[in-house]
Amino acid sequence: LEKGVDPLGPDNKIIYMTGPLTGTISPSSGRFSAVTKSPLTGLWGEANSGGQWGRDLKRAGFDGIIIEGVAPRPVYLVVDHGKAELRDAEGIWGTSVAETTKSIKDALGKRFNVSCIGVAGENLVRYSAILNDVHRALGRCGLGAVMGSKRLKAIAVAGNQKFTLADREAFREAAKRASDFANESLLKMTLEVYGTAMVLDLVNVKGGFPTRNWQSGTCSYADAINGPAINEKILVGRKACFACPIACGRVIEVKSGKYACQG
Ligand code: SF4
Repeated sequence: LEKGVDPLGPDNKIIYMTGPLTGTISPSSGRFSAVTKSPLTGLWGEANSGGQWGRDLKRAGFDGIIIEGVAPRPVYLVVDHGKAELRDAEGIWGTSVAETTKSIKDALGKRFNVSCIGVAGENLVRYSAILNDVHRALGRCGLGAVMGSKRLKAIAVAGNQKFTLADREAFREAAKRASDFANESLLKMTLEVYGTAMVLDLVNVKGGFPTRNWQSGTCSYADAINGPAINEKILVGRKACFACPIACGRVIEVKSGKYACQG
């Protein structure tokens, strides 16, 4: 980037990038990153997300995507087994992440996986996120606003490209060793049981739990929302990103009241 580039201008870029192991059986390697000049800080902005989208970008035939410029009208990018094209997104502009994902899958087929912005990104909210697999987030540094500034609503990826490994058997053994190591770790055991809410009590004791928009670093009702409370009240399942033995993702259900939901 040139010095002084406007984070929400045409010359800023979003660089989506996978790693060399993304899409292989190597444990927890399905993640991917996106980087940009942040509209929130004016500095380097980077976020990392899980789910299945990184694997699906690799299967579509690409290690990464570099987005630059500004579209004259809302568009979304379709990447299908080595080919890419922009399509009109006027009909889905103004819809939520869940609605956008459903609309694109209805139009293209369920084999497509979607990374997209909601209305916050469209409206250039400087801390807005880009989400993939509906619930996984590139949640830092305002990447959603940069995507919105480019009038890019979503990137849908699909494909069945195979990976070439120099020594498949040696790779399988190394991946198993790494997986065994993860499975025996205390971190995995606690993440699997309580999800990332495992750290809630610790950060609360240390005064680092953001409460009432950081008016306080401790929360008086932490016991009601920590890992054990989630397990007892609303947990209905666990979910893993691609090839991850840890499965820290939570599937919850709030059965009644104004916050009733499932996901
Ligand atoms: S399931 Fe949890 S630990 Fe595993 S890759 Fe996803 S976020 Fe990370």
